[in-house]
Amino acid sequence: MDKNVTMEKIVSLCKRRGFIFPSSEIYGGFSAIYDFGPYGAELENNIKKEWWKNMVQLRDDIVGLDSAIFMHPKVWEASGHVAGFSDPLTECRKCHSRLRVDHLLKDVGIAADEKMSDEEINKIFLKNKDKIKCTNCGAKDFTEARKFNLLVKSNLGNFTEDWTKDPVYLRGETCQGIYVNYKNVLDSSRVKIPFGIAQIGKAFRNEITARQFIFRTREFEQMEMQYFTSPDEEMKEYEKLKKYRWDYYVKSLGIRKENLSWKKHDNLVFYAKEAYDIEYNYPFGFKELEGVHARGNYDLSQHSKYSGQDFTYVDQLKGKKYVPHIIESSAGVGRTLLAVICDVYTEEEVNGEKRAVLKFKNNLAPIKAAVFPLLKNKTELVAKAKEIYDNFKIKFMCEFDDNGNIGKRYRRQDEIGTPFCLTVDFDSLQNNDITVRDRDTMKQERVKIDELEDYLKKKLGE
Ligand SMILES: [Zn+2]
Repeated sequence: MDKNVTMEKIVSLCKRRGFIFPSSEIYGGFSAIYDFGPYGAELENNIKKEWWKNMVQLRDDIVGLDSAIFMHPKVWEASGHVAGFSDPLTECRKCHSRLRVDHLLKDVGIAADEKMSDEEINKIFLKNKDKIKCTNCGAKDFTEARKFNLLVKSNLGNFTEDWTKDPVYLRGETCQGIYVNYKNVLDSSRVKIPFGIAQIGKAFRNEITARQFIFRTREFEQMEMQYFTSPDEEMKEYEKLKKYRWDYYVKSLGIRKENLSWKKHDNLVFYAKEAYDIEYNYPFGFKELEGVHARGNYDLSQHSKYSGQDFTYVDQLKGKKYVPHIIESSAGVGRTLLAVICDVYTEEEVNGEKRAVLKFKNNLAPIKAAVFPLLKNKTELVAKAKEIYDNFKIKFMCEFDDNGNIGKRYRRQDEIGTPFCLTVDFDSLQNNDITVRDRDTMKQERVKIDELEDYLKKKLGE
């Protein structure tokens, strides 16, 4: 990461250049929800496209899925979310901020276990009361901690007054949609174990404290792949998946290796075999970007128990019967987008002036090329630039810009990370060529307009 990166700069650039806006900003914003602006939406799409390419298109053993956000409420009982998907919550008696007790404890160096009961949490909380301060106002006066369930409830399909007794949930994770479709996919496609099912979609969690911009939000998008294996090959496949996912960040997204690291989970849930996270070095420290976990056969066993369906797989190759084990890769679109922006954000000094530039890998850049006429009021230049723009916009995302001087247009394209700026000037009319300016080197090259398409295709493909 560029040493100049701070969250303030990232948040400000994202707002100023139309990557990320706070939700419903005209009404004062809506806590822990964000909207992706014109360039954010492009970047998000490019990230999802790259993920899908790596996880589905290039893999003979993985198929895609798009399951609905709403599912039968039993799904969340079987998964354990209704009973156990909760965070310990306290309220500051002075400023009434709601805070996560495990975060407060962590701030004073005490690790709270996810599996602790209300009672256990309160005991530790009480014991350390003198050390713990409200992160908002600094007071040391808190209510008793209680566990708060993170599932978001809804009255979908329920027309009674008191629907809260019998709610349906907005999904808290996308993988449950994969588990409940395991048999449908197995029976309808030509997959054989080992195989995976991948999907991208929104999930919702009633996060108590939203921190660090889009890192933890109440509505977010996941990219998850669940891979079904035989019990004896689970760990072998797990090692393969770990390597595959690491390579994806480095090679496909271009994230610098030194900003990534593996973190092993020390406290495993009882059914898990092994769990690692890939962490990214955000301006607020190394934090989870993706989880790669070996989950045993817990997920299918639970759904078998609650639905009464048999998920035993008959492995003809091995002559064995078993309930498949699952290894998963679970990443967030927002977290990936934030990691990518932090990783490519660069400040440079050019002729005594500072420039901020997003040095995206070409496959991720929201706009691939911007076309400028040198001057706005010369109709021949504008017509020529428009012609080139119209030709390229059917091939990839392009922009036409004739606003302000060239220097200002370059700075704007640098800040949204456009790899190439193409300028039509008076020589262009004579020689049928154009100035191509490279975002990173700022070098300018004359390229014949007839050769421009091949030139850009080659460069963008690199
Ligand atoms: Zn307070």
